[in-house]
Amino acid sequence: MARYVFITGGVVSSLGKGLASAALGALLQARGFTVRLRKLDPYLNVDPGTMSPFEHGEVFVTDDGAETDLDLGHYERFTGVPARKTDSVSSGRIYSNVLEKERRGDYLGKTIQVVPHVTNEIKDFLAVGDDEVDFMLCEIGGTVGDIEGLPFFEAIRQFIHERPRGQCILMHLTLLPYLAASGELKTKPTQHSVKELQSIGLAPDVLVCRSEHPIPEKERAKIALFCNVRPDAVIPAYDLKTIYEAPLAYHREGLDQAVLDAFGITPAPRPNLTRWEDVMDRLTHAEGQVRVAIVGKYTQLEDAYKSIAEALTHGGMANRVRVKAEWIDAELFETGDPTAVLEGFHAILVPGGFGERGTEGKIRAAQWARERKIPYLGICLGMQMAVIEAARNLAGIKNAGSEEFDHEAGAKRFEPVVYHLKEWVQGNYKVQRSVGDDKGGTMRLGAYDAALKADSLVAQVYGATAIEERHRHRYEVDIRYREQLEEKGLCFSGMSPDGRLPEIVEHKGHPWFIGVQFHPELKSKPFKPHPLFADFVRAAVEVSRLV
Ligand code: GLN
Repeated sequence: MARYVFITGGVVSSLGKGLASAALGALLQARGFTVRLRKLDPYLNVDPGTMSPFEHGEVFVTDDGAETDLDLGHYERFTGVPARKTDSVSSGRIYSNVLEKERRGDYLGKTIQVVPHVTNEIKDFLAVGDDEVDFMLCEIGGTVGDIEGLPFFEAIRQFIHERPRGQCILMHLTLLPYLAASGELKTKPTQHSVKELQSIGLAPDVLVCRSEHPIPEKERAKIALFCNVRPDAVIPAYDLKTIYEAPLAYHREGLDQAVLDAFGITPAPRPNLTRWEDVMDRLTHAEGQVRVAIVGKYTQLEDAYKSIAEALTHGGMANRVRVKAEWIDAELFETGDPTAVLEGFHAILVPGGFGERGTEGKIRAAQWARERKIPYLGICLGMQMAVIEAARNLAGIKNAGSEEFDHEAGAKRFEPVVYHLKEWVQGNYKVQRSVGDDKGGTMRLGAYDAALKADSLVAQVYGATAIEERHRHRYEVDIRYREQLEEKGLCFSGMSPDGRLPEIVEHKGHPWFIGVQFHPELKSKPFKPHPLFADFVRAAVEVSRLV
């Protein structure tokens, strides 16, 4: 049976709970334990799949096709453990399960209540797979005291009681604000937030205190006394230059030791931190810099492309070079030449996206990269844009476009070289969709295999001809245009194993132009950069040497 660490937050949101959880996972692994991380989100959306990236940041997709919170991306990047559908849940999903059971008559006519029906549903979620790992780390979104979060906290309280003593601990993150006028760190908000927890029957074993200033020993002792935790379980968390410093920084401050102490695991196995020392060495000893333009739509909020930003950093680490990613609004060159904006970049990346807005600019960016022989990585929509560009400007299909944009406009303006896929094979199943389907969870989602052409650039990059990558899209490049496009040099170098769905395209005779229908960024890790990103950055480095 796994030991459970529940991770909660207080005082303010955005304290870096996800990062602290991920770092703790990495540290427990470094001590030889197996871990799994989970996220419980109090909002009422059933999943983040339909939430705006402006508001919520990127949607992270798992191998088994769940659309989850971007924190699951951090978990994977820090632990390398692939997240599953059963690692992410929201209040919306919990309530929807309960109501479905009620409609089916599963509760035999009983009155359905938050306690026990909703809390039971949450406890069932927590318990899934508890015989598979040493530690289960469960992060609760939001802050203690939020109305939506209450059923989760109540479920955790029950869960802790139902498990044998010593199987569960609670780690609480708070903020110590600094008052410049008196030059003091204030502990009162932390005390209040711990009180709030205590009032619902929960007591923290470990307190992680975010602070912009060093926490004096005296304050640490005071927090311990007032919050009923041991002094060495009050862990300072200072601002870091890079998130990848978190495992080593938390280790220095004693987080993993405090957690193992709280479980009574003595003597604690010694940690092997070489993986993280190597990561930090690569990050801090980079030589030179390459500039990559990310031409997209959600450029105001970096979190909308979190995994891409991280994967580029990893690509830089693989080449021991800094990657300066700059977010360019595709609408800047919707109708004109992008040269003035794109000149000086060593590589162009067009990421995934939805809807027509900005697409003409992305198509121009693809054309610019193709003609200038600048490395281009097109991801999902970015691949579709590259295909439309080639269809229009090389194959002479002047009105080439995607069915997605005609659906939106209720028109027929484009010849659909990218079309709405309504039937495909997943494992042994045939999946079917129609135009009027729900927006949530109806895309081609999760891991699919692809077969690569042996003599292609991608096969060389991967060092393999069979790969598996994660998908999240409705539209597909139409195989019927293959011959016409290949004649003009756009090679279909990766296909679904049944040969029906184009997975990868590349321009013959271009040093590095690759479009992929999937999202490679989701599988990149700092200690194992994704080959596409590593090689894309390598190609950018080559361009930077020429100028
Ligand atoms: N909008 C496109 C589709 O649904 C691309 C999706 C994406 O880039 N993730 O196919």
